[in-house]
Amino acid sequence: MSLPPCSLSSSFTTESSHGPRDHQVDKKVQIQKDALPVDIILRIAHHLVDEEHVGTLSAVQRCSRDLYITLSPLLYRRVDIRRTRSDSLLTLDASLASLTADLDIKVEEAVRSGQLFSSSNATLRRLDALRHIRRLTLFQLPSDPISTSFLTFITKSSALLLPNLESVQILPDAVDSIRTFIPGSYDRVRNPPFLEGLSKTSRPSRLCIAHRVVPSEEWEEHREISVLGQYQVVARLTQLRDDDDGGLWSSSLREFSVHDIVHQVLPSLQGCRNVYHFSSHLSSPSNKFLSPGPRSTYIPGPPWSYRAWQLGTAIKNLFPSGSDGKTVLKGTSWEFVNYDGHILTKMVRDDDDDSGVGYDEVQDLVQDAVKAGLPQDLPMREGFGRELVGEVFDKIGYVAGDRKCACCARIGNDRTTITRIRDIT
Ligand SMILES: [Zn+2]
Repeated sequence: MSLPPCSLSSSFTTESSHGPRDHQVDKKVQIQKDALPVDIILRIAHHLVDEEHVGTLSAVQRCSRDLYITLSPLLYRRVDIRRTRSDSLLTLDASLASLTADLDIKVEEAVRSGQLFSSSNATLRRLDALRHIRRLTLFQLPSDPISTSFLTFITKSSALLLPNLESVQILPDAVDSIRTFIPGSYDRVRNPPFLEGLSKTSRPSRLCIAHRVVPSEEWEEHREISVLGQYQVVARLTQLRDDDDGGLWSSSLREFSVHDIVHQVLPSLQGCRNVYHFSSHLSSPSNKFLSPGPRSTYIPGPPWSYRAWQLGTAIKNLFPSGSDGKTVLKGTSWEFVNYDGHILTKMVRDDDDDSGVGYDEVQDLVQDAVKAGLPQDLPMREGFGRELVGEVFDKIGYVAGDRKCACCARIGNDRTTITRIRDIT
């Protein structure tokens, strides 16, 4: 177990009189003596994080100034963003954007002077917290005023607000916000302000997004109500990486994953290993996922040809006419995991493909369709030489079953967001 560095003091007591102003400790239970060594404190803190008792760690962190400073790197290593609940952390006074320069020195000065916890130093404390973040999970996007002021702060500041960010995970509510976002102007592809800001103030190497999954009987209705904006999601995620107006992700992103795919249009990011995790069937009302096989036959799902279209589109989207095919291919690959998942199948194929194909035929049918389609479609595009077709195929991988996500460590439908269609607004 690695421990974050501590340069302040070697042991701590909890002291309510020195703690942040919103924390009160009952004096009867206050520990005044027998301070714990810092190593022990940190080991306990790591266990709290491992066991996902982050609320408890947060309470301990607020017991004293020393604990606050020492435990912040651990507490803020992984941060979840939720609408309104994260507003406080992201509320930054734009008139103080100069604080981002020499932040270490300013924090140390504020600690020495005892002013770090004064109300006038709220922005300084938040900047200090943000720079510890390594993994960011967006359950929802922050509220609009906070997102806009966050972007304003970033455009004024001289340093990265999240210099240590390594991975970003965007969960279904936030993905839906990207899909339905209405920008203030249409002069270029625009993302919600929080994401635009994030792409200008961090350099993560890993990004993944996840869709919600509804019971398989409701998949078609889900497709109908979410069809609007599918291509916007593709264009906006591409823009997040390719933003040439101060965006930094084009030089940092190397891994991009999409989880829980059923019917969605698939984005691809240039220069990345693109990994697509297709969902298995979701049976109702047990809410159990059924991997492709005999048990998942006759359950509603897209036809196999729809899956072949999804795969082909994911690849072709990266080669719009006029793009330089060779440049696009540099560092780019596509991996399709559980790609026969959630397809309408039956035990044995017959004359009627509309009612499904044999469950054991899907993999070959999909691969053959991609193999036949790409050599016809790609060379039609300006800038794509026919000789590159073979290189594209070299970069396509097929994985039956599940694979661990390099960004969020999810495997298959573990931690999938399951939603009933009636609960989708
Ligand atoms: Zn992931």
